[in-house]
Amino acid sequence: MSIHPALAGSLFVVAAPSGAGKSTLVNALLAQEPGIKLSISTTTRAPRPGEHHGREYFFTTPEDFVARADAGEFLEWAEVHGNYYGTSRLLVEKEMKTGIDILLEIDWQGARQVRKLFPDAAGIFILPPSIAALEERLYKRGQDQPHVITKRLLAAGGEIAHAPEFEYAIINEEFHVALSEMSAIVRATRARFPQQAARNASLFAQFGIHASQS
Ligand code: 5GP
Repeated sequence: MSIHPALAGSLFVVAAPSGAGKSTLVNALLAQEPGIKLSISTTTRAPRPGEHHGREYFFTTPEDFVARADAGEFLEWAEVHGNYYGTSRLLVEKEMKTGIDILLEIDWQGARQVRKLFPDAAGIFILPPSIAALEERLYKRGQDQPHVITKRLLAAGGEIAHAPEFEYAIINEEFHVALSEMSAIVRATRARFPQQAARNASLFAQFGIHASQS
C-alpha cells in the first residue's frame, strides 16, 4: 500500500488584521503545544519599542531585503503597510524535514504564495469579534503613530476581504475559546495520515504502508 510522501512537520499559516490579537493567541499556543515553532520573518520596518533583532523579526534595510529576495532566500515575501516582510526558506524546510511543525504569522499575500508551494498547509484566519473591538485594540496598543493606526484600520478591511481563502476561521472574542480552537486545529492537522506516516515510517511499514517514491 503506498501513500503520497509528505514532510514530517506540518505547516500552519496564521493571518489576521492588526488588532485581532493574533500575536497573543499565537504566543499562548506555542507555550502550550510542544513541537511547533514560529518562523521569525525578516522585515524592513523599524523595530517598535521593546522589539529585538532575532526575536520578533530580523530587521534589515530595503537594499539587503531586495538582494535576498532576488537570491531566492524567501519562501514568500510581500509588501505590507509600506514595508517588506519575508519568510526564510531554509529555516522552514530544514525544521519541517525533522518533524518540527512551523507556524507562519504572515499576511494574505504571503499566505497565497505558501498555499501554492504547500497545498497541505493549514490556513487559519483570526477575526476580531467586531469592527469596534478592532479599533479599540489598535488605539489601546499605543505603539504606533495615529497616522499609522489610520493606515492599519484601512488595511484591516483589505486583509479581512481575503479571510475566505483560509481553511479555518477563529473568532477571538473569548481568549480561552479561541486558543482551544487553535490547539484543536494543530492537533488534528498533526494526525493527518501523510504526516503521521512520515513521522512514524517504521511503524507504518509494519502495516505495509509506505510513502510512494514519486
Ligand atoms: P507587524 O509590522 O505589525 O508586525 O506586521 C504587519 C503585517 O505583516 C502582519 O499582517 C503580519 O502578519 C505581516 N507579516 C509579518 N511577517 C511576514 C512575512 O514574513 N511575510 C508576509 N507576507 N507577511 C508578514
